[in-house]
Amino acid sequence: MADESGTGPVTGPVLAALEAIFAGAPRPLPLHAPSLGPDESREVRDCVASGWVSYLGSHVAAFESELQRICGCAGVVSTCSGTAALHLALLAAGVGRDDEVLMPPLSFVATANAAAYLGAVPHFVDIEATSLGVCAQALQAHLTAIAAPGPDGPRNTLTGRRIAALAVVHAFGHPADLDALAEVCAHWGLPLVEDAAEALGSLYKGRHVGRHGLVSALSFNGNKIVTTGGGGAVFSDDAELIARVRHTASTAKVPHPWESRHDEVGFNYRMPALNAALGLAQARRLDGLLERKRALAQRYAEIFAAMPGVRFLAEPPATRSNFWLNTLVLENAATRDGLLAAAREAGFGLRPAWELLCDLPMYAGCPRAALPRARNLQPRLVNLPSSPG
Ligand SMILES: *Cc1c(COP(=O)(O)O)cnc(C)c1O
Repeated sequence: MADESGTGPVTGPVLAALEAIFAGAPRPLPLHAPSLGPDESREVRDCVASGWVSYLGSHVAAFESELQRICGCAGVVSTCSGTAALHLALLAAGVGRDDEVLMPPLSFVATANAAAYLGAVPHFVDIEATSLGVCAQALQAHLTAIAAPGPDGPRNTLTGRRIAALAVVHAFGHPADLDALAEVCAHWGLPLVEDAAEALGSLYKGRHVGRHGLVSALSFNGNKIVTTGGGGAVFSDDAELIARVRHTASTAKVPHPWESRHDEVGFNYRMPALNAALGLAQARRLDGLLERKRALAQRYAEIFAAMPGVRFLAEPPATRSNFWLNTLVLENAATRDGLLAAAREAGFGLRPAWELLCDLPMYAGCPRAALPRARNLQPRLVNLPSSPG
C-alpha cells in the first residue's frame, strides 16, 4: 500500500476524523495551546499588586505546595525551566564529569542537554512499543553485555566511564514501566531519575509518576499541560536531597541575616513569583484539564479504532496517562510526510516525533545500545492536536 507520491492511503481517513472531531474549531488548530482564564489573570494581578514579583513573596511557596499536593511527594523546588530542573536533578543524583547517563533516544533534547551541562555523556538505550519509554528487558540485556560492577556504580567496559544514572522519560505523558526499570536500577546500583516533564497528573499503578526513583523533573513551558510561561520543578520523596537542590537552585548562599557568603557553585535557576502565580492558578485547575484531555483522547481512540493503517497510542496497562500529546502510530512510515503536509494545508497542527537524540550532531558520537525499536517507531509517530480547550 506504500504510495510513492507520499500521500499514503491514511491521509484521507485521518483528515476526515480530525474534521469530525474539531468541526467548528478555529483554524489553524495548534498542537497544544494553553488554557488560560480569569483565575490566571487574577493570580498574576495579585502578584503584581503585592510587589513581590521576583523570588520572594507567597506565590512561589503556594505553587510549590500545590505541586506537592498533586504529586504527593515530600518536597518540590520550582525552577525557571524544565531543562534547569533536569540539570539540578542529575546533579543531585551524583552525575558528574565523564560519567555516562543512560536515557532513551526518543525524547526532547533537554534530557541529553542536562547531562551535557554536567560534562556527562548520554548513553542511549532502546524503547518499548507500549509506552515509548525505556525497555527494561533491553536495558538489562545491554548492561549485562557491556557493563561491569565498580566501586561507585557500574562501568561501561567499552568506554571505561562510570555509568552514573538512568534517566527515564514518560513520553507524551504515558508512564514508562517504572517497576521493571526500578528493578534493573536496583540490580546495578543505579539512581533512577525521571524526566516527568510531560507527565504532570500521570499515574503509574495509582501513584503519581516521578516518585519511583530518586528524583524527578517537571516542565511548565507554554505547551505543557500546566504552564507558568516558562518553568519547571524538581521533586523527590527525599527531603534532604530537596534541601540540597534548593541550595544549588539559588545562589548557594549560607543562611545569615546580613553576611553574603556562598559555599558552592549555585545556578540561580529559581522560578520568579510572577510565573509561579500563573502556575498556581493552572495547577488548581489540573483536574479539569485532565478530564478534558482524557475526553479528547477517548474521542481519538474511538474514531481510530477501526481505521486501517493507524493505531492510536493507548495508555499503558496499570497507568493513567495525562494524554499530554495524543499520538498516532502509522503502520507504514512512508505515509507520514504526506499526512503531515495535507494536515498543515487543512489547518491542523500535526507534528512528527522528535528526531532521535542519538542522531543530533552534538550526540552523534555518544555510546548506544542497539536501537531497533526506536528506529522503527520514530518515523511512524505523529502527534495530534491535544489542547485541553
Ligand atoms: C518539555 C520537556 C523538557 C523541559 O523543557 P523546558 O522547555 O526546559 O521546560 C524536558 N524533557 C522533556 C521530555 C520535555 O518534553
